[in-house]
Amino acid sequence: MNYKEKIVNYFQILKKHNKLSSSYLIVGDDLTLIFDIIKLINCSYEEGSCNKCDDCRKIERRVHPDVFLISQSSNESIKIEDIREAQNFLFLKSFQGKSKFLVINYAHKMTLESANAFLKTLEEAPSDSFIFLISSRVDLILPTIVSRCRRIYLPIKEERNILNRKEIWDFILNRKEVYIKERDYLDSFLLSLIMIMRDYIVSFFLSDINNLLSKEDLGRLKKINYPPSIAQKKLEVLLRIYNAIDNVNVNLATNILKLNF
Ligand SMILES: [Zn+2]
Repeated sequence: MNYKEKIVNYFQILKKHNKLSSSYLIVGDDLTLIFDIIKLINCSYEEGSCNKCDDCRKIERRVHPDVFLISQSSNESIKIEDIREAQNFLFLKSFQGKSKFLVINYAHKMTLESANAFLKTLEEAPSDSFIFLISSRVDLILPTIVSRCRRIYLPIKEERNILNRKEIWDFILNRKEVYIKERDYLDSFLLSLIMIMRDYIVSFFLSDINNLLSKEDLGRLKKINYPPSIAQKKLEVLLRIYNAIDNVNVNLATNILKLNF
């Protein structure tokens, strides 16, 4: 499973547990990933997105009336008029009677005036709307904006995120210590644990292995020796750590992780 699939699956788990936040900051550069996430949140199909319904197809073609995209070229700034237009969009009634989605690519391109106006948008956005900011330059975004969004970090270099599966399974089955020094390794590690716990719970209730996210782990899943209720608690802890990761440092997060496994 690549990083993209992992993040989409993570959102699938959040959707199922009703734990979606209303605003996300995606740290990195991947607009297509956001559209995959929006498709998933919006589609009434319970397991992921169906890719067949009218909504999915319109989102895929980027012509859905309930999705508003601000995507300037990388050398152009996002002006206050753009933010006002986005605000008007959010407060209009949804066309399809579902949620509304605002996507701002290169979010660090907001002028100070735009950023201040956007802060109000974040505070006052209707409860059934979702806001996605994308930027690889979080240092250039107003800290008050950053702190109001859940952050999702995309890998800077793909190869760094090729996780050592043995290390993850040693951690789960043999409680072996893991040494996590880097932020995106921790992200990746947590996402993998979330997927594995989800698969373990699913494998208990559904016999069809096609429901598993990583079928190659089936043999190892069978070696886990606690009941699904414990796995459910671990999954909740993992989701909490992953969501709070910005407010705690890597060491602290790693310690919480060790304590809970
Ligand atoms: Zn659909």
